[in-house]
Amino acid sequence: MSVNISAEQPTHFFSDVCKNFDHAAQFTKHDTGLLDQIKSCNSVYRFRFPIRRGNGFEVIDAWRVEHSHHQSPTKGGIRYSEMVNEDEVMALAALMTYKCAIVNVPFGGAKGGIKINPKNYTIQELENITRRYTVELIKKNFIGPSIDVPAPDYGSGEREMSWIADTYATMNPGQLDAMGAVTGKPIALHGISGRREATGRGVAIAVRECVSIAEDMQKLGLTTGISGKKIIVQGLGNVGYYSAKFLSDFGGIIVGISEMEGTIYNADGLDVEAVFQHRKTTGSILNFAGAKNLTSAEGIEQPCDILVPAALENQITLKNVKNIKAKIIAEGANGPTSPEAEAIFYKNGGIIIPDLYANAGGVTVSYFEWLKNLSHVAFGRINRRFEETNNLNLVNMVEGITGIALSPMQRSIIVKGASELELVNSGLEDTMIRSYHEIRETYNVNEKMDSMRTAALVAVINKIAVSYQNLGIWP
Ligand code: NAD
Repeated sequence: MSVNISAEQPTHFFSDVCKNFDHAAQFTKHDTGLLDQIKSCNSVYRFRFPIRRGNGFEVIDAWRVEHSHHQSPTKGGIRYSEMVNEDEVMALAALMTYKCAIVNVPFGGAKGGIKINPKNYTIQELENITRRYTVELIKKNFIGPSIDVPAPDYGSGEREMSWIADTYATMNPGQLDAMGAVTGKPIALHGISGRREATGRGVAIAVRECVSIAEDMQKLGLTTGISGKKIIVQGLGNVGYYSAKFLSDFGGIIVGISEMEGTIYNADGLDVEAVFQHRKTTGSILNFAGAKNLTSAEGIEQPCDILVPAALENQITLKNVKNIKAKIIAEGANGPTSPEAEAIFYKNGGIIIPDLYANAGGVTVSYFEWLKNLSHVAFGRINRRFEETNNLNLVNMVEGITGIALSPMQRSIIVKGASELELVNSGLEDTMIRSYHEIRETYNVNEKMDSMRTAALVAVINKIAVSYQNLGIWP
């Protein structure tokens, strides 16, 4: 029997998250006991289970952390990575609590981790691991539509979520809301339109909102608007690909893309879809026509206006922050900037759109998926035709009164009822825009407020404190 445990790397991700929290807490007046309760991880479940592999067995390390039970269920993705460790899962779970609070999604935060490199396993083995992981969660009551609801994260996606949904439903026969036990499922298995691209779409909306404010752009020495802004994206996975795609749809120029194998850079811009297809066929982003090849680490240091780290934590540190040319960092990934690097970046006149807000689009649409699963009806199903009939009556009436006939195109734009995807995208956009302004207002209230992250965390602490006060736990 081989045991899949590599030496634990010393990490400080959770303490970095706590450092940011403590810093923000100074701007609030809450009892230290309450602050401690908000900050602490409520439940940390570490487990190991064997899977059959080749002629023997392998023992897999796994975690599920429920950071905060101030709301139920708890919610957060499952990371499949050989680098996963307890500190990382705790940090990511804490970020989920803060993320849900900042975008007003009524969940506590959680996160899961499976310590494997998915590329080293067959699909059959990945299915065995995922199903067994789910059974372990069921055994300890760490999953359920009203308990704890996993979702995809680094290294996992719709396929893994469908295995989890199927295992949960099989083990809970007759449970009406079983599909609400996990989100990020394929649409054919009770998923929701727009979830796959939600995090990247949210990142792009966050950036668009940020660059639309003239006063803030003036301070950064940038013009307003996304059009023509040069952007580098680190990581071409789910978050990175869709961030790049929507930012370029909004008019931004993607000048650099960085992946594990290296970076490609072209000051005139890269066609994101063509790069994606190039990687699919060649196995690498490198040697893309018209672009120069650089190392992976060099990517984020290239000239640009906006940098979107969308890979992993701890990418911008004291070691490289002085080399970052971007004026805006939009954190698609969780924890990409260390607290020390952030202070320097701001001192040098930059701004960071913080992870807990910037990548909250995924959990926002996961919330919509969960609502859909609990209500057992797709958004728009009941009211779409009613809306269309009403709109049609209105158009006919206005045409009759004015004597002006609309073109078929104008007619169809006005008459059309909203589809599920349109409702999801509209809810996501509204959430991202409102939350941006909430954070910005908090940021502007106190001149000592040193970052958008601090402002976001102050808003989060105040919201969670109210939840505890409403529960009657704290005065
Ligand atoms: P993913 O597995 O789909 O993609 C990550 C990509 O980053 C991979 O292609 C990987 O090769 C690449 N990568 C890894 N290390 C790199 C490096 N040093 N330089 C360049 N590229 C590198 O994962 P994802 O779901 O896109 O998640 C990325 C980040 O976004 C994580 O921090 C995750 O926690 C966060 N996030 C994801 C979601 C979601 O909905 N998937 C939601 C919120 C936050």
